[in-house]
Amino acid sequence: RAKEKGKNTYEFYYNHSDSKAGDRLALEKDMRKSIINNDFELYYQPQVNTHTGKVTSVEALIRWNHPEKGVIAPSHFIPIAEETGIIHELGEWVVRQACKQVRKWQVDGFAELQLSVNISIKQFYNKNFVSVIKDILEETKFDPKNLDIEITETMAMKDVDHAIHIFEQLKALGISISLDDFGKGYSSLNHIKDLPINRLKIDGSFIQDVPTNQEAIIIIKTIIAMARTLNITSMAEHVENEDQLNFLKQLNCDEMQGYYFTPPMPANKAKKWFEEHSYLHEKIPFSS
Ligand code: C2E
Ligand code: MG
Ligand code: MG
Ligand code: MG
Repeated sequence: RAKEKGKNTYEFYYNHSDSKAGDRLALEKDMRKSIINNDFELYYQPQVNTHTGKVTSVEALIRWNHPEKGVIAPSHFIPIAEETGIIHELGEWVVRQACKQVRKWQVDGFAELQLSVNISIKQFYNKNFVSVIKDILEETKFDPKNLDIEITETMAMKDVDHAIHIFEQLKALGISISLDDFGKGYSSLNHIKDLPINRLKIDGSFIQDVPTNQEAIIIIKTIIAMARTLNITSMAEHVENEDQLNFLKQLNCDEMQGYYFTPPMPANKAKKWFEEHSYLHEKIPFSS
């Protein structure tokens, strides 16, 4: 009986993992096809300076226009891209495509526009990472001073010595570094003071709890104070409403990003948004 049960269990797991592996294999195949067919697309979300009310930067966010399944969000395919190694090719494409696009906007009159790109842990721990970035900047004639690389707090803390080593090289090129999703990883001021970073991006989950959740408020205040102590920029992601905006303004959080301003947009829509709102030249009408 036990043997039989064991067999059934085995079969169940076998079938289960088999179909999962099948799905994964199909997705992997689709992903490789989609790289060739240009089915990946970058969306852009503006980042606003709280003090001046101006858009200073855009964050590039990848989307997959799957030929049958429609638009797929990065949380669904980045993990598979990482496991299969496709992330290296995809990640390079992201940096190259974003640099090309933002360079175009700079030439078209938005001269000061900066760019943030997200980097996956696999890219960050690849030994060619810095030279790949350097080559893309040269190829696209993108000024490194306008590039910001977003690494999650967790990624940086996984191996602080590695992070310092990479950050120093990026910094030497003129690139700035943001710690994304900050506050989720529980690193202390003591841990981050040695990192040559330029910005802390407060994790969106804390912003969404403003102004009702006291714990979230304390965390946000602490992170903004931390940034000030380190003489770096504080930024809040997922700003969705006026209450959150006014709260962050009051705390002198330096930068904001979120649906309140606009969701991420495809390139042509982003360009129109810049032109219509002239946010690079005029202040965002803050309610304050
Ligand atoms: P992230 O870098 O923290 O990006 C912010 C995410 O919050 C984006 O989700 C954005 O669409 C979303 N968002 C923006 N404003 C709001 C808001 O007001 N409220 C809420 N609830 N969400 C908002 P998205 O585009 O689905 O990306 C999710 C994550 O996937 C990113 O988090 C980033 O970690 C990763 N990712 C996106 N693009 C890339 C990429 O090109 N390469 C790599 N390696 N990772 C990427
Ligand atoms: Mg990010
Ligand atoms: Mg984030
Ligand atoms: Mg996030």
